[in-house]
Amino acid sequence: MLSAEIIAVGSELLTPERTDTNSLWLTEKLNGIGVEVKLKTIVGDDEARLEETIRDALKRSDIVITTGGLGPTEDDITRQVSGRAVARDLVYREELVVELRERFRRWNREMPEINKRQAYVIDGADILPNPNGSAVGMMFENGTPPSRRPPAQEARAGRPHRSRRDGGVPTEDCISMDAGFTLIVLPGPPREMQPMFENFVLPRLKKKAGGIFVKRRILRVSGMGESAVDEIIAPIYKASKKTVQTSILFNKSEIEIHLTAKAKTDKEADATLEELAAKIAAKLGTAVFALKGETMEEIIGKMLAENHKTLSVAESCTGGLIGMRITDVPGSSRYFVEGSVAYSNDAKKQTLLVTDEIINKFGAVSAETAEAMAAGMRSRSGSNYAISVTGIAGPDGGTEEKPVGTVFIGFADEAGAKSIKLMLPGDRYLIRWRSSQAALDYLRRQILKAYE
Ligand code: ATP
Repeated sequence: MLSAEIIAVGSELLTPERTDTNSLWLTEKLNGIGVEVKLKTIVGDDEARLEETIRDALKRSDIVITTGGLGPTEDDITRQVSGRAVARDLVYREELVVELRERFRRWNREMPEINKRQAYVIDGADILPNPNGSAVGMMFENGTPPSRRPPAQEARAGRPHRSRRDGGVPTEDCISMDAGFTLIVLPGPPREMQPMFENFVLPRLKKKAGGIFVKRRILRVSGMGESAVDEIIAPIYKASKKTVQTSILFNKSEIEIHLTAKAKTDKEADATLEELAAKIAAKLGTAVFALKGETMEEIIGKMLAENHKTLSVAESCTGGLIGMRITDVPGSSRYFVEGSVAYSNDAKKQTLLVTDEIINKFGAVSAETAEAMAAGMRSRSGSNYAISVTGIAGPDGGTEEKPVGTVFIGFADEAGAKSIKLMLPGDRYLIRWRSSQAALDYLRRQILKAYE
C-alpha cells in the first residue's frame, strides 16, 4: 500500500482563526484509492523549516503533497523551497506568463509584474493547470536522483539522515530518493486545490496505487456502550479482518462502526461490506439504526414517510433542537406537522394543555408531564405521533431527587401516551443533544414495534 504525507503551508494556519481543512479533504480522496496517509504537518511561512519538512517527508513516504504558499508575494515560499528540497532549479515558463496576462486581460486588469514569479516551476515537474486561480500546481516524480548533499539546516543541526532503504540507520548518504517518490505541490484555496487534485492528480495516483478500490460504510448504533458493542461483534469482524478493517467509535450519543474494505473491483468491495454489515446488524438487532451512515433524523424521516405517518414535537429542555434536526432533512414537510418549545409551566399549560394538577402534583420534570405534553401536542396538531422532552440540562436547577441530567421522554399515538426516564451524563450541550437523540430513538423503536 502506498503511503502519503500532507504538508499544509501557511503561517495563518497556525493561528486560531484558520483551520487546515485541505488535509482532511485530501485524506478522504487518498484513502478512497487505497493510499494511506501516514502524517500531516502544518508549517508556517518559514523556508528552512519547510525545506526540512519536505525533505523528511520524501524520505519516509511514497507521495508527499503540499498545499498553499504558491501566491506571487514574498511570503509565498513553497515554489522555491520545494525545488530546493528535490535539488532541482526552478525554470521560467514563458507560456505560463502569456496565459496569466490573458487571464488578467479577461478580468479587465493589467497583470502585475510580481505575478511573473508564478511562472517559475520545478525543472522536470509536470504542470497542473489551475482554471480557478493564478497559481499552477506541480507534480514531480523522481527520475534522476537529486543532489545527495545534506540540506544546510540539517547539517547545521548535526542531525543524522535516515534513509528509508537502510532501515533507519543514520548515514551521511542521506536522502535516498532513488527509492521512488512523488512530490505534488498544490495551491491553498480549496476552490483551486480541489478541482486541480481531482482532475489532474487523482487519476495518476489511482494508477500508481494499482487499482485498489477502497469502500467505507458506517453503521450507527443507539442505546449501547462502546465495549458492549465490541464484545458482541468482535467475533464477526475478527473473522473478516483480512478483507475489512473495523473500528468502533463513540460519537456524542451513539456508537459508530466504521468498516473499510479493499478489493480489486468496486463491486467486490461493496459486496464484502454488505455481507459484513448484514452480519453485524443481525447480531445487534434493533440497536443498529443506520446501515449506510444515515443520521437518526434521516432514518426517522424515512420510516415516517414510508408508513405515511406524521409527527409533532413538544420540547422543553431541548429548546427546539429536535424540531431543527427533523427539519434539517430535505422533504420533512411530508411528515413533520408542528413543533413547540414550551419552556415555562404556563406555556406547557396553554400550548400543550398540561393541567395544573399534573404540574403541581408531579412537577414540570416528570413522567406524567412528559406524557401530558406528548398527548396535548398530538391532539392539538392532529399528527399520528407526538414526542416530548422535559428535563434538567443544568448546570443549575438540579435537586437531590432530580439531579442535572434527569430527562423524561414522552410518546403519544392513538393508543395513548407513555414515557421513559433517563439519567444523562455530560454538560448542558451534551445533555440537550443526548435528550434529542434519545427522544428520536424512542420514537424509532415505537414505530418499529407498531410495524413488527
Ligand atoms: P493563491 O496565490 O492562488 O491564493 P496560495 O497557494 O498562495 O494560492 P495561500 O496564500 O497559502 O494559497 O492561501 C490562500 C488561502 O487559502 C488562505 O487564506 C486560506 O483561506 C486558504 N487555505 C490555504 N491553505 C489551506 C488549508 N490547508 N486548508 C484550508 N484552507 C486553506
